[in-house]
Amino acid sequence: MRKLLFASAGVAALVSAGCATTTQEVREAAPSAPATQAPAAPSAPAEAAPVDNPLLARWTGPYGGVPPFDKVRIEHFKPALEAAMEENRRAIAAIANDPAAPTFENTIAALEDAGRTLDDVETLYGIWGSSMNGPEFQAIQREMAPRLAAFSDEITQNEKLFQRIEAVYQSPDKAKLTPEQQRLTWLRYTNFVRSGAKLDAGAKKRLVDINQRLASLFTGFSQNVLADEEGYAVVLESEADLAGLPDSVRAGAAAAAEARGLKGKWAITNTRSSMEPFLTYSARRELREKVWRNYVNRGDNGDARDNNQIISEVLQLRAERAKLLGYATHAHWRLENTMAKTPERAMQLMEAVWTPAVARAREEVADMQAIANKEGAKLKIEPWDYRYYAEKVRKAKYDLDQNEVKPYLQLEKLREGMFWVAGELFGFSFTPVDGVPVYHPDVRVWEVKDKASGKHVGLWYFDPYARQGKRSGAWMNAYRNQERYHGEVSTIVSNNSNFVKGAPGEAVLISWSDAETLFHEFGHALHGLNSNVTYPTLSGTAVARDYVEFPSQLLEHWLSTPEVLNTYALHYQTGKPIPPALVAKIEKASNFNQGFGTVEYLSSALVDMKLHLAGSQKIDPDAFERDTLGALGMPKEIVMRHRTPQFSHVFAGDGYSAGYYSYLWSDTLTADAFEAFTEGKGAYDRTVAERLRKNVFSVGNTVDPAEAYRSFRGKDAGIDALMRKRGFPVPGAAKKTPAK
Ligand SMILES: [Zn+2]
Repeated sequence: MRKLLFASAGVAALVSAGCATTTQEVREAAPSAPATQAPAAPSAPAEAAPVDNPLLARWTGPYGGVPPFDKVRIEHFKPALEAAMEENRRAIAAIANDPAAPTFENTIAALEDAGRTLDDVETLYGIWGSSMNGPEFQAIQREMAPRLAAFSDEITQNEKLFQRIEAVYQSPDKAKLTPEQQRLTWLRYTNFVRSGAKLDAGAKKRLVDINQRLASLFTGFSQNVLADEEGYAVVLESEADLAGLPDSVRAGAAAAAEARGLKGKWAITNTRSSMEPFLTYSARRELREKVWRNYVNRGDNGDARDNNQIISEVLQLRAERAKLLGYATHAHWRLENTMAKTPERAMQLMEAVWTPAVARAREEVADMQAIANKEGAKLKIEPWDYRYYAEKVRKAKYDLDQNEVKPYLQLEKLREGMFWVAGELFGFSFTPVDGVPVYHPDVRVWEVKDKASGKHVGLWYFDPYARQGKRSGAWMNAYRNQERYHGEVSTIVSNNSNFVKGAPGEAVLISWSDAETLFHEFGHALHGLNSNVTYPTLSGTAVARDYVEFPSQLLEHWLSTPEVLNTYALHYQTGKPIPPALVAKIEKASNFNQGFGTVEYLSSALVDMKLHLAGSQKIDPDAFERDTLGALGMPKEIVMRHRTPQFSHVFAGDGYSAGYYSYLWSDTLTADAFEAFTEGKGAYDRTVAERLRKNVFSVGNTVDPAEAYRSFRGKDAGIDALMRKRGFPVPGAAKKTPAK
């Protein structure tokens, strides 16, 4: 039952150092939190799985077997999932009913083997869900998702199984196990307890009811947000309405209008990717306000799709569930096994960053107001003006035009740059592989080897282009985790993104923030590729949510190293490297608009945490949001990145509930970790890289993350490096000024 690392649907990026960092969702195959789907009605009898169903066969071919993408047909999924669940059910029963006394080997380790077929089938099912989706597959998802969720509940509520896990966990013999075995035992035990395994029958029943109701509410929440995204658009009637828009935005708006049967007009749809460029470039203030209002009011229009009622009920059910499970609040339950461990520690970090971020945002507004005044615009900066005037400030202050940078950022050259970085930091080499099956002709595969020994490390699949049926954003996925429980098994990982494919032979040019995202996802891949553990459950990226973005955010730092830029950021026509003057401008502007980005993100994270610390009181979400932001001193020129009625991270599932702080937490580590390199011999310091590999990238979840970090850095992270990275004043720095 391994964990997969996915970008979550509809999750918008956190602006960090002027770039978009794609968020990720760790999906647990055996959720410690309830799954987002309602437990199923009694399952239909399993259809006989055809013996030749390729999804059920062991992966064959080179490299210890590869996914049989060439043989998969959509009609294989349902019977394969049913047969694999049945196989898993038998394996669980065999463990639970074992007449031998429970031991680590016959219980905890045995669970690693139970459900390997289901893991493989679910891996392919997940790939089709994210990358090859369509109406036919969605019908299977609607049917199978609740049944898979119910199957997970069936395992965590298996009392005989839990008694055996508990016996191993409580046994004095546990001390004789290896540290990794002890951690696996702890993880199994704690996940079962956290899912209610210790509750009495009545409480268990109530838990199932709560989870079922929550699942319906989550579904309703997402459907309402989606309906408000699809249901509103601002239609532009004439050229005059397009004032200020670059050609690419005009073209997108024209296509959106045509798709709505309004050929010859332009439509600004109600999504972030439409809203953001419009607010950045449109010179028509009243249109900016209209687009902004539609966007921030998603799920909050007082109509049939209003989410406030749903949120209120979700919060009450979560509070009740936390109480049932023995926790003060939902936040305390969610954070228990994270690196932060308690909501108080997460709050402390957020509050420490909040005040300087607000102060910086006020300076940013002052800069904008000055430009508006100078231009003679008689206005006071409002939320729909922020991006527009920020762009003007950026050009005035830093003389940086994104269109100047793009010709140097060729996708394939940057990919070579990433490979080179992985070679320098971790000693990996990448060789293209032909003849391995792929699910789409756009997908390419590389073999990863250890340069020094030539030893096979794993496979890296790359699926870079947007297409119908593929979710938006960028993500990493592990098709197979590294392990050596029954002998060496190498990992198979993939990176996925949504670049627009060019004409054959033409270079694909990407933006600076897209390039950062490319390195970010590759950071997740390297986290998987470096894994060196025994048990698959603890492998690679299967770590705490507030720790998992640390390796990926860290890798973003290598994009801007001169070694990468001089060799790999080459002009697509002249082949010349990016001029140092342009690099200097990018660097100089790297902290630009951090007040806005941090306040926008942090206000959402603070409201998320406070909503889940509020306990079982009945909450009116609009009033709670208003009062909380008022008490925080939220600048009125900025709105939360995700207002409560559209905060899908938090209300479309339990995934990021009381967990949106995780990006800041990880970034605290990232900033501090990169300083380990700059304090040493620089970004390519081999000694620091080796410490990083040994303590962070290779250990998976075999070590407590705080300990792992300390072993790497020799100290805890603290927030000074984070403040430096974002260009905020470092607390206490003034006091350290040497006395005369
Ligand atoms: Zn990530």
